[in-house]
Amino acid sequence: MTPIFGGIEAGGTKFVCILAGGAEDIRAEARFPTTTPEEAIRQAVGFFRHQQAEHGELAAIGIASFGPLDLHPNSPTCGHILPTTKAGWSNTNFVGAIQQALALPIGFDTDVNAAALGEWRWGAARGLDTFIYLTIGTGIGGGGMANGHLLHGLLHPEMGHLSIPHDRGADPFAGSCPFHGDCLEGLASGPAIEKRWGQPAETLPPEHPAWALEAHYLALGLVNWIYTLSPQKVILGGGVIQQAHLFPLIRRDVQTLLGGYLQSPAILENIDDYIVPPALGERAGVLGALALAMDAA
Ligand code: ADP
Ligand code: ZN
Repeated sequence: MTPIFGGIEAGGTKFVCILAGGAEDIRAEARFPTTTPEEAIRQAVGFFRHQQAEHGELAAIGIASFGPLDLHPNSPTCGHILPTTKAGWSNTNFVGAIQQALALPIGFDTDVNAAALGEWRWGAARGLDTFIYLTIGTGIGGGGMANGHLLHGLLHPEMGHLSIPHDRGADPFAGSCPFHGDCLEGLASGPAIEKRWGQPAETLPPEHPAWALEAHYLALGLVNWIYTLSPQKVILGGGVIQQAHLFPLIRRDVQTLLGGYLQSPAILENIDDYIVPPALGERAGVLGALALAMDAA
């Protein structure tokens, strides 16, 4: 019998839970809003208990969560959500609560590292060992792999909080990051777009000047990550990137900003295959959670 696994994608607005044997073998799925930790975790546990009764015991569960997270095996608060801007969730013992309820091996990582792992196993990053996955949504987050290992380090990457040039003459918006004001997330996240232009990003037409500015900020972030990590591919996901017309703008800006310095055909000739959307689409996060479960089993 093929083993089955559970995956939880814990987002700032919603939880997605799946039960699956693999990316092509999803047996059940549930979605519910990210309310309080008690309620959301209770709903996730309820889903898995119910599904286990039908499909048999799970081999492991993977949790792909918004952060910041404590991922250090030696830390007394490993598996917790660290102090976060998401109300009510600071210091939640996420792994402990799931483990106590279900007594299964648990894999735990950031939503973006998990999505990177999912794309590596089944999607756009297959066969690569160094690449990044960015999400541009309520926040901007980044994860990925270097030399075949998911990026962790001191805490875990917080790529969205990069400092980028901000021309206040051209764009007087002060930025929306509660910590830094006009960091990349403060200038280019979905809420930043909404605050700057006074309407939700999804309602701005493609010809609106918001998009050229957005592409430029994202390109400034990208060139810094490209110089630093030398990724073999850059995958861009998240709600804002559903504006597919951003891709050609971002690619052209990245080429211009790099100024011909990086002599790689991937950038000079094949940039359409270098800066790409997730091959797993909106499922990158939850399939990433599944991949975490498979590694934990
Ligand atoms: P989350 O960050 O909770 O995982 P999303 O990635 O969907 O969720 O990000 C939500 C943000 O993305 C909101 O600020 C919203 O305005 C923006 N957004 C969602 N869909 C679109 C769209 N089609 N076009 C532009 N912006 C979008
Ligand atoms: Zn910031």
